[in-house]
Amino acid sequence: MNIVSFSGGKDSTAMLLMMLEKGIPVDRVICVDTTKEFPQMYEHIKKIQAMIEPLRIEVVKIDFDYWFGEHIKIKGKRKGEKGYGFPDFRNRWCTALKRQIFRKTLVSMTYNPRKRGGVNCIPNDIVEFHGIAFDEKERTSNNKGRNIKYPLVDWQITEKQALDYCYSMGLDWGGLYEKFHRVSCWCCPLSRIGELRVLFNDFPVLWEELEDMDKKSFRKFRSDYSVKDLSEKFANENL
Ligand code: SF4
Repeated sequence: MNIVSFSGGKDSTAMLLMMLEKGIPVDRVICVDTTKEFPQMYEHIKKIQAMIEPLRIEVVKIDFDYWFGEHIKIKGKRKGEKGYGFPDFRNRWCTALKRQIFRKTLVSMTYNPRKRGGVNCIPNDIVEFHGIAFDEKERTSNNKGRNIKYPLVDWQITEKQALDYCYSMGLDWGGLYEKFHRVSCWCCPLSRIGELRVLFNDFPVLWEELEDMDKKSFRKFRSDYSVKDLSEKFANENL
């Protein structure tokens, strides 16, 4: 069974459409939604859904707000306290959750209670397809030991070529890739400062939400700036 891991970004979009174009069978398309994607990304996913019918994009949501601010820690230094707060380079809990949920979905989809050993492992007949571009091929080494294919690496498709291909198919994410190098959660503290500046200037409603999140996070937004610091910095730049 061929399963595409689809984020909605340029690379997984190009991979999925190219696979279908080349007649490579796709059995399922799974999209893990952090619920913190840009509104334009949700529109894009709807567009792709219309393009690939009758295949269905299975969207699995993460309750980001719960893990961010509500979940009560049951062990570790912060035992009894609420929420994981903003991720940082050492604690990317949301990325780990995305991976976990994707894997869990693979297992639950194929779990057969009459057969032994189906619960905790991904069955051997599943082949995962991940959209990693040729110029990022070093990222494929993280997944050794799993049955994963990287068609863009095999076809030597770079990030730029993936994006150009998507543009040629009439996809533009409402201009997100003209503003951001990488399109992922708008609230990500790991984004570049320049991208956070664009968020502040061009997406004021999302920035307001980020300010609210800041009040609920035990961890500072970034080691160098809080959201409040950035609001002041960007506002001053606009004077
Ligand atoms: S983009 Fe940032 S906030 Fe979103 S899952 Fe990845 S690390 Fe977490």
